[in-house]
Amino acid sequence: MQENEVLRDTRIEVDLFRAAKNTAMIKEMVGPDVAVMAVVKANAYGLGAVRLAPVIIENGASYLAVATLSEAVELRNACPDYPLFILGHTPDRYLGIVAEMNITQTIFSLHQAEILGSEAEKLGKKAKVHVKVDTGFHRLGKVPSDDYAREVAGMFKVGGIEVEGIFTHLALANDEENRRQYRKFTDFISLCESMGCKFRYKHIADSIACVDYPEFRMNMVRPGALIYGMRGYHKGYLPVEQAISFKSAISEIHHIKKGEGVGYDYHFIAQRDSVIATMPFGYADGYPRQFRDCGSVLIRGKRVPVIGVICMDQAVADVTDVPGVEEGDEVVIYGDGSDGSMTIQEACDILGTNKNDVLCRLTARPPRIYHI
Ligand SMILES: *Cc1c(COP(=O)(O)O)cnc(C)c1O
Repeated sequence: MQENEVLRDTRIEVDLFRAAKNTAMIKEMVGPDVAVMAVVKANAYGLGAVRLAPVIIENGASYLAVATLSEAVELRNACPDYPLFILGHTPDRYLGIVAEMNITQTIFSLHQAEILGSEAEKLGKKAKVHVKVDTGFHRLGKVPSDDYAREVAGMFKVGGIEVEGIFTHLALANDEENRRQYRKFTDFISLCESMGCKFRYKHIADSIACVDYPEFRMNMVRPGALIYGMRGYHKGYLPVEQAISFKSAISEIHHIKKGEGVGYDYHFIAQRDSVIATMPFGYADGYPRQFRDCGSVLIRGKRVPVIGVICMDQAVADVTDVPGVEEGDEVVIYGDGSDGSMTIQEACDILGTNKNDVLCRLTARPPRIYHI
């Protein structure tokens, strides 16, 4: 067995060159005065955080952000020197690990700053934190107030702590709300600054906002989806390209008669004598079960319907109209659309969800294959 054998036909192909180009494009768009904090949570939305990290850092990002400490630790072990940021809350009992591994932590209480600071001091270090402000989302962070400003000013005085930044997150409810959140944020920063606080980084913009609202870039942006080539913006434009595709190959072809059923519950009943292809992927690979009756795949350049119920490990396509179809033929589940394949955007439109959801549903089972 060769070392790099993936042992399966079903695989996720990641185009590292595109991820690199997308990152460089974002950096070029925001310019030299705005830092790019690339969001690589959820294993870089399924593409593979450890593998993408150097590509992203070498192409203009200066920080990598994850959601949880567990994700940060995995990345830290692989990349000892990259600046890492945790967007989420870390429970008090794990703050020692944050300090030890030189991870920058989101913070919204003096209490946590004191715990993290004392852990850092024990190690002879300073732990970096970014203060989270709740400007309306009501997820993490405290709402702006004089009390919170005093609490933030207090964090600057905690030994072992470097307050490096301040940030908030947009609910993206509508244009007016976005602007109202932005104003709330900048007003709160001014209040803190009037109490002597100085923040090296101030940030509010995710992928959509950093394209649609250039005035919200401040001096740091937090794109995730954009790096992987997802175009979620509405007003602006940036020609990023989808850096992921999901492929398989036909495992068996069956010839069935009109009136015969296929799969669980015989959910599909052939309306004509049909040729059907079994494909070795299912919902355990992250192919949404909701694609029953509305999924399609590309075989020999032709879009064909996925029929019957999506199983855990297998799915079936109607290939009656694909001339010359054979076992072993390549199946494109998600592609970049240039060949007529279903894009992540199309999948999310059909499923009524968003692109990040379609991407991070992809499970660990399909091997990732990296193209440079
Ligand atoms: C996930 C996340 C992002 C990145 O979101 P995209 O829409 O993928 O750009 C940015 N900021 C925070 C706080 C997040 O949780």
